[in-house]
Amino acid sequence: EAKGAGRNQIKEFDPAMRRSALERLHLEQELRRALRAGDVVVHLQPIVDLATGLPESFEALVRWHTEDRGWVPAPTIISLAEETGLIVPLGEQVLDLACEAIARIRRLTGAPIRVAVNTSAMQLLRPGFGDTVRATLERHGLPSDALVLEVTESILLDEEGLARGTLRDLHVQGVSISLDDFGTGYSSLSYLGTFPLDQLKLDRALVTGTAETATGAAVLAGIIRITQNLGLPVVAEGLENLADVKRLRGLGATLGQGWHYARAMAPQDALDWALARVTDGQRTEPGVTWSSERPS
Ligand code: C2E
Ligand code: MG
Ligand code: MG
Ligand code: MG
Repeated sequence: EAKGAGRNQIKEFDPAMRRSALERLHLEQELRRALRAGDVVVHLQPIVDLATGLPESFEALVRWHTEDRGWVPAPTIISLAEETGLIVPLGEQVLDLACEAIARIRRLTGAPIRVAVNTSAMQLLRPGFGDTVRATLERHGLPSDALVLEVTESILLDEEGLARGTLRDLHVQGVSISLDDFGTGYSSLSYLGTFPLDQLKLDRALVTGTAETATGAAVLAGIIRITQNLGLPVVAEGLENLADVKRLRGLGATLGQGWHYARAMAPQDALDWALARVTDGQRTEPGVTWSSERPS
């Protein structure tokens, strides 16, 4: 009976679904191999101070190039990794590469630029995540305030409070916590007070989608006002042109990220970008204090 039912189920399995399941299995095997081979890398996108245009940090974004697929989109990599548990080794690799890259950028620019690393709830729910973070910072000779962890509202589904505890410990030790994709979730705003947050990142959908209508603009202005009342700086994502920059700066965003400034770049290009900006900033804006920390 059971056998027959099973066979029936397989027969009813839609061929397109079967194809995509096989495709996914294949991709999983490839990802496993890529992680071992060191083919999963990070690119860095600057987050700039909207007042000076100088880099405040870089966001590390996972990148994976395969011969037959080209660049696999980050959301595809991440959802596959989360479904298969590969997110844990992948996350560790991303963190390590991000720290390695920012340590070099800090050394060569002399500027205390930070690195923001996206962190899945699954990583935070594993005991030992805090130890991994501390060991990684130490391995690269970085102070804890060089690191920003970007988390999403999904960490609220943390009933035992494990993720919350880990974040609190890291926060006390000086790691910054940034709430990513803010404005797209459905949870109540009351959680904002229950997490150790240092920064909010307005999702790109909110930045680009709200320019057109008066209602949209009012919602965006309201959200920014809330974060200001909480005393948290706002990072505006998806600034694609000067008009976006001016609009968001006018609304009170202090930091920004987007194609207007730069796309995510390979670490060497990010270093060159930062060197050019920091050097230029020194020349044109002598009041920027951290430039003076640059070694001779
Ligand atoms: P996110 O963390 O919100 O990252 C911002 C996304 O917006 C990035 O897409 C970035 O390339 C893109 N972006 C930045 N500026 C602009 C712009 O001006 N215009 C447009 N159209 N797009 C812009 P990406 O790299 O494809 O990453 C997508 C998402 O995948 C990320 O969204 C994040 O949720 C996730 N992700 C990426 N890397 C990692 C990682 O290492 N770990 C985890 N857990 N998630 C990651
Ligand atoms: Mg992010
Ligand atoms: Mg984001
Ligand atoms: Mg986003």
